[in-house]
Amino acid sequence: MSDGRIDIRGASKRFGSVEVLRDISLDVGTEETLVLLGPSGCGKTTLLRSIAGLEHIDTGEIELDGTVVSQPGVHVRPEERRIGMVFQDWALFPHLSIGENVGYGLTRTERKGGRIAETLALVGLVGLEERMPSTLSGGQQQRVALARALAPRPRALLLDEPFSNLDTALRVQVRSEVHRVLLELGVTTVFVTHDQEEAFVLGDRVAVMHDGRIEQHAAPAEIYEQPASRWVAGFVGEANFVRGEGNGDHASTPFGTVPLSIPRHGPTDVLLRPEHLELTADGDTQAVVELVEYHGHDHVAVVRFDDDRRLRSRGTGASRFRRGDRVAVRTSGRPTIGFDPEG
Ligand code: ATP
Repeated sequence: MSDGRIDIRGASKRFGSVEVLRDISLDVGTEETLVLLGPSGCGKTTLLRSIAGLEHIDTGEIELDGTVVSQPGVHVRPEERRIGMVFQDWALFPHLSIGENVGYGLTRTERKGGRIAETLALVGLVGLEERMPSTLSGGQQQRVALARALAPRPRALLLDEPFSNLDTALRVQVRSEVHRVLLELGVTTVFVTHDQEEAFVLGDRVAVMHDGRIEQHAAPAEIYEQPASRWVAGFVGEANFVRGEGNGDHASTPFGTVPLSIPRHGPTDVLLRPEHLELTADGDTQAVVELVEYHGHDHVAVVRFDDDRRLRSRGTGASRFRRGDRVAVRTSGRPTIGFDPEG
């Protein structure tokens, strides 16, 4: 594989009066997997299609390996960008065999040189060349789509919600297989999803998009632990905000003192993830358990205070509390961050 570095600077795009991409700047390093994460309609697919050359950007530029491929007045055609794409619906040709599907973008020499079998082996589908797509399971078809994108040795791979047609159990399995292939190949990848778990599992870095902008671009743990905004905090997991008082590197809250990763002073809305809050039967009773959601590996309890405020608390295994129990809430003392008070 060649370098596959992608640099986007100040890219904007309108469809009519709607600004779908707003001043996007992003870089994707060689062999990196960047995940574009955001809600439906935020512009992820448009950004991906712009990198592929399927959309023209209105301002800014996109470079592949240091060469400008998109700029107002410059547009390198998609087939000349050497980028592989895998779409949500996989788009396999139903009337072509698996081998013909995988060989579709190859030269005759490449096809004869064993590249099809080699690529199928890469995705764990040895010997399926003669089969037709309809005889394969959903997970296998997805891997054929991946093989077809990889066969011409693209410099980068773009994947748009590739697992969304798979049921939950298969999704996790196929995701792991694809993850392994991407790591083994070391191919630069941009992956679009609206699923936070998928983004965190696959991404070396994640770019969180909202309303055509990049809200934060960082490693998954940084996005979860130090979200750049309240919106990001709520989008990438469950977020309780509790009014506290910043005292530099820690804040006092009604549920105890918490370390702050980014120092703050004065009134602060402290982000307390559900796993930052523990319920206990001793101490001053503060709240009543309203709901317990059991997930197997952990549980979430929703507790309600006398003033009707609610918080979510997460603990391992099953909860020892039930609906109606009165409990005290305290922080686990894990580091977090605070925001300017709201309201
Ligand atoms: P989803 O997860 O639902 O696919 P997305 O984040 O990928 O969403 P886009 O598909 O990039 O979002 O769409 C962003 C916005 O641009 C949406 O409001 C969409 O309706 C609009 N849009 C996309 N393509 C076109 C087009 N060809 N013409 C007009 N509007 C478009």
